[in-house]
Amino acid sequence: MANSGQKNFDVLIIGGGVSGTAIARELSRYRLKVGLLEKEIELAFGVSKSNSGIIHPGTQNPPNSLKGKLCVQGNELTRKISKEIGVHFEEVGELIVIFKPEDFPQLEKIKSDAEKLGVPGLKIVDRAWLDQHEPNLSKDVHAALYAPTAGIISPYRWAYDLAENAVKNGVEIFLGHKVVGIKRSSGNLRLNVAVSNSEEPRGSLAGSERTFQANHVINAAGLFADEIAKMAGVTDVEIKPRKGEEFLLDKKREHIVNHIIFPLPNPKSKGILVIKTSDGNPMIGPTAEDIADKHDLSTSAAGLNKVLESVKKMVPTISENDIIAYFAGLRPTAGKDYIIRHEDKVPGMITVAGIQSPGLTAAPAIALMVADLLKKNGLKLRKKWFFKKQRQPTVHLFAIPWQKTKELIARDRSYGDIVCRCEMVSAKEVRDAIKRGARTLDGIKFRTRAQAGRCHGGFCTTRIMKILAEELGVPLTKLTKRGPGSEIVKDERA
Ligand SMILES: Cc1cc2nc3c(=O)[nH]c(=O)nc-3n(C[C@H](O)[C@H](O)[C@H](O)COP(=O)(O)OP(=O)(O)OC[C@H]3O[C@@H](n4cnc5c(N)ncnc54)[C@H](O)[C@@H]3O)c2cc1C
Repeated sequence: MANSGQKNFDVLIIGGGVSGTAIARELSRYRLKVGLLEKEIELAFGVSKSNSGIIHPGTQNPPNSLKGKLCVQGNELTRKISKEIGVHFEEVGELIVIFKPEDFPQLEKIKSDAEKLGVPGLKIVDRAWLDQHEPNLSKDVHAALYAPTAGIISPYRWAYDLAENAVKNGVEIFLGHKVVGIKRSSGNLRLNVAVSNSEEPRGSLAGSERTFQANHVINAAGLFADEIAKMAGVTDVEIKPRKGEEFLLDKKREHIVNHIIFPLPNPKSKGILVIKTSDGNPMIGPTAEDIADKHDLSTSAAGLNKVLESVKKMVPTISENDIIAYFAGLRPTAGKDYIIRHEDKVPGMITVAGIQSPGLTAAPAIALMVADLLKKNGLKLRKKWFFKKQRQPTVHLFAIPWQKTKELIARDRSYGDIVCRCEMVSAKEVRDAIKRGARTLDGIKFRTRAQAGRCHGGFCTTRIMKILAEELGVPLTKLTKRGPGSEIVKDERA
């Protein structure tokens, strides 16, 4: 591989999931040269693309745990930052239900643990309350713990918009850049990076190896944080994947529940839930199965049966026929709690590992903790006076009133050119998504919801491909679903 020069930074972040992008946005407040390296062709294509999208209130965490503390703080910060950067967050509340009076002590224990962590507004609600506020709940449910501060957000739009705001404030993001080696040399950390894709200038660096150097490196590599740790000589981090299968229901069941519905938790997970999502489609799941393969994202009939059996006990009218899509995600576990620390044996190296659930919620609090660790370890954090904390919200026709849509169409007719009929996504939104960084069909789906409806892109995929090819200036044979290896049209000449 050719080496294409060295780039120097104050801080380099490895990993562009919610942890990495939240850290990038937080550090972009300061007068620092910050870079983010992501091995995939787009951000949020790791664990952050496959989760339940819940901003947890902080229930169901041991009161002395780091993840519990960061969850409660993250819930608060998510509300604030989502407003600043224009990402839709909705407080819907959660209910942890019990079926027998004998389970009351467990509910009381969850409540008192959560109160120790500072979770506000908790109350145990009875059958009459449930009849009034959650009418589709099984009549077998006896009572529930109500946590009003649970919310929902789109996990990918959250990560994309955190990153976009970070870039606006000077952070440089390198996609298709996989860290393959780390060395310490003359007080710095030097990273060897294999480039599979590069846009600077137009892919010419693909296939090369580059060197990046920084005083401080943050390992936020999700499932692969143990591999990065080992490269730096840190040997006590081990990530074990825990698979969660989830099933998406048709939008016509949007109002099947008013809250997120939990059973009592088990030692491995918060249990199998009925989830409201910010896109409208309710979701059921996830399972929790320890596996060995970090690439195994398969779903199974056994997983489906387990999920259906569990959620039907809570909401009996959920049916297999409501399911329109399914996926699996892998929680990157490293023991019971998060590992967020400065590696004293490798000065400048910060580990952010084991970020299993509630990592989506905790991300902004993790970012604050990382900034604090950097400061404690010698990095001067001097605030920029020109930090742009606001971001113009992205237009989503599916989320705005018809009158507003009409005004947009009057301004720009391509808002009226509907590409995805299931989810009401216009050609203008698709083109804007590409201008803001989408490079793949999945990238467009996550940003706009085009292809995410009941027909799974049956009607719109070819049109989206045409727009993508036009905007990127590449032939159709170069387009992929989620990066190299997932090409859609085969080049017969190749
Ligand atoms: C089924 C499921 C449901 C969940 N539900 C919720 C929920 O409702 N609420 C909640 O709060 N949390 C939830 N979580 C947890 C949450 O999704 C994770 O905690 C969070 O997404 C972790 O983000 P991350 O940025 O740490 O990791 P990732 O998103 O995996 O980001 C790490 C990034 O590092 C990149 N990378 C890896 N190796 C390298 C390398 N060598 N060089 C460069 N880049 C590299 C990866 O490609 C990846 O993009 C859920 C998780 C699962 C699996």
